[in-house]
Amino acid sequence: MKALVKYAAGPGNMEIRDVPEPVCGDDQIKIKVKKAGICGSDLHIYHSDIAIPVNPPVIVGHEFSGVIAEIGKNVKDFEVGDRVVSETAFSFCGVCDYCTEGYYNLCNERRTLGYWYDGIFTDYTVVPAGRVHKIPEGISFTAAAMTEPLACVCHAIYDLSVIRAGDIVLVSGPGAIGLMAMQIAKAEGAIVVVSGLTHDLERLEMAKELGADYVLNVQENDLIEFVNSITGGYGADVVLECSGAAPAIDSALQAIKKRGYFVQIGLPGKKITFDIEKVCYKELHFSGSLGSRKHSWRTALKLMKQGKVNLEPLANVELPLEEWETAFNRFEQKDGCKFMLIPADEQLNCS
Ligand SMILES: [Zn+2]
Ligand SMILES: [Zn+2]
Repeated sequence: MKALVKYAAGPGNMEIRDVPEPVCGDDQIKIKVKKAGICGSDLHIYHSDIAIPVNPPVIVGHEFSGVIAEIGKNVKDFEVGDRVVSETAFSFCGVCDYCTEGYYNLCNERRTLGYWYDGIFTDYTVVPAGRVHKIPEGISFTAAAMTEPLACVCHAIYDLSVIRAGDIVLVSGPGAIGLMAMQIAKAEGAIVVVSGLTHDLERLEMAKELGADYVLNVQENDLIEFVNSITGGYGADVVLECSGAAPAIDSALQAIKKRGYFVQIGLPGKKITFDIEKVCYKELHFSGSLGSRKHSWRTALKLMKQGKVNLEPLANVELPLEEWETAFNRFEQKDGCKFMLIPADEQLNCS
């Protein structure tokens, strides 16, 4: 089968290769990939600027939906033909304090699908049965392929911040993650401001269509002035920073209220400079967020099933797997929102 492989450490070093189909172990499930989303961290793997352990040569990609093709002999509760998604924490130690407290996303031994273990930019992938979740009825493969990023956003919002009805929430960065964060904040009853740059205009438009109360191009409007104007000068109750860009982080730190919740979701990919003194002077609840946990997946699937979030419009570009380079470039140029790479034998929807 054809697969997109990161074949060596260092920038670039990615190509389509012919690889053997993976073998399904006794406790594993083999999944036929239907839709495969490109994540910002796939670009970081491409550029080799990510701190999460990568083990080349490895098939990249971790956001996907599919159908069970085979189950290992010890696996219960699943059948061939089930529509499924899989968590990306392929392995973790299971005995450290983080693992036993349910925070296996933080286990030092955590090894990830598409980084350490062969991922999903290919036809078939094999994952531990314990990481697999069934896709509820009525959710398309396209939407389901975004369960992973949605689960990460659920972790950031439900485990690391507090959003109350009526709160003003600033979502900084209108990429796929930002648009998911906005929708969950709306579902929680918040008033949401989504901020972005001139090259984000299309995504800001999408934010508006998906329910954002305000969208702001910060190259044409003063973010802090605006947030002050709708909060009586206090600032946003919660910031969900999804861009990872230093100037955005800095202005979000100015736009947030004292004692507010600030969650850094976007990865800068390098050391950056921002005014951390604001965290002290404002007594902020300042946290980062990494990956997701089991209950984040359950919540993500529930929110999709109940129609509290609408993911399908985010996936506005689908390209065949062989055109991965075009997709990566366009993604980097922000020419689209969520990009899907489709295995050769699956059908393409939009391009
Ligand atoms: Zn991802
Ligand atoms: Zn552990």
